[in-house]
Amino acid sequence: MNAFAERILRWYAENGRDLPWRRTRDPYAVWLSEIILQQTRIAQGTAYWHRFMERFPTAPSLAAATEDEVLRLWEGLGYYSRARNLHAAARQIAEMGHFPDTLEGIRALKGVGDYTAAAIGSICFNLPAAVLDGNVYRVLARHFGIATPIGTTAAKKEFTALADKLLPAGQAGAYNQGMMDFGAIQCTPRSPACMDCPLQESCEAFRSGRVELLPVKQTPRPPQVRHFSYVYLRCDGYTAIRRRGAGDIWQGLWEPYALEDETPSLPGLRLLQSGVKHVLTHRILLTDFYFAQMDRRPELPDGYRWIPESELDRYGKSRLFELLLEAVATLS
Ligand code: SF4
Repeated sequence: MNAFAERILRWYAENGRDLPWRRTRDPYAVWLSEIILQQTRIAQGTAYWHRFMERFPTAPSLAAATEDEVLRLWEGLGYYSRARNLHAAARQIAEMGHFPDTLEGIRALKGVGDYTAAAIGSICFNLPAAVLDGNVYRVLARHFGIATPIGTTAAKKEFTALADKLLPAGQAGAYNQGMMDFGAIQCTPRSPACMDCPLQESCEAFRSGRVELLPVKQTPRPPQVRHFSYVYLRCDGYTAIRRRGAGDIWQGLWEPYALEDETPSLPGLRLLQSGVKHVLTHRILLTDFYFAQMDRRPELPDGYRWIPESELDRYGKSRLFELLLEAVATLS
């Protein structure tokens, strides 16, 4: 076994966290913990894990529940798609009659990605699959002095190859959990405990004084700024909307009469608010809100339709459209 894995395993035996799902190899219990912990801290996640294990101790019992029951038990954890996937995956498992025991089989469960499949596969079935998440990237980048920016395809390739090479035969489960805990407890993002680290001697970042500089993060793209005009058209209790198409923000949601990089010119137009700022991932939208009262319904550009204003509630809207409606509601 390589010296790195040996040290991680020794460190884990002495310092590993005692978590309830680590006292079992039941793949259902481990899978449940992995899904809950995807976007939740351990302290909060543990309480939910106990709740679920008590109420639904097996995959078939979870599969037999209604979606409402599952969502109610999940309440407070957020990211509800996880709960829906959990429920769907429990049905997949129940249909199969057993928890899948190959990487491909586990990966085929709804809501399970490469990381979760490697974690469950190695912990429960000792499958030789290395986990790769933020913790593992950080430990490897520092220990081996790798400056390839995380988040790039090149990094994924390089770190996957290294992680696979380091995986000790027959001990993938303990090693993976050791890497997760080592990253979370010892080699932490901001104040790693280098002074009492068992890897210090071989750590390239420590040797070269680059602990603070590694891992290298990909420089984020500057956000794109887009300018819109949103016009609320009103004519005899009707307003005009259209559904946003594929390939842009808010696909499938409805929007009011909208122009990009253009100022509307319509009779009776009133500016309600200008430069309303709305921030999305990688984008900043600056939007002017207008209101136009019309005597008769003009012909609309492609895709728009007139609908009774009283039916607006039935349409899925972006937050920005909601803000326009709030501004319109303040008109006397
Ligand atoms: S010496 Fe510091 S940077 Fe290197 S592995 Fe240990 S904790 Fe991480």
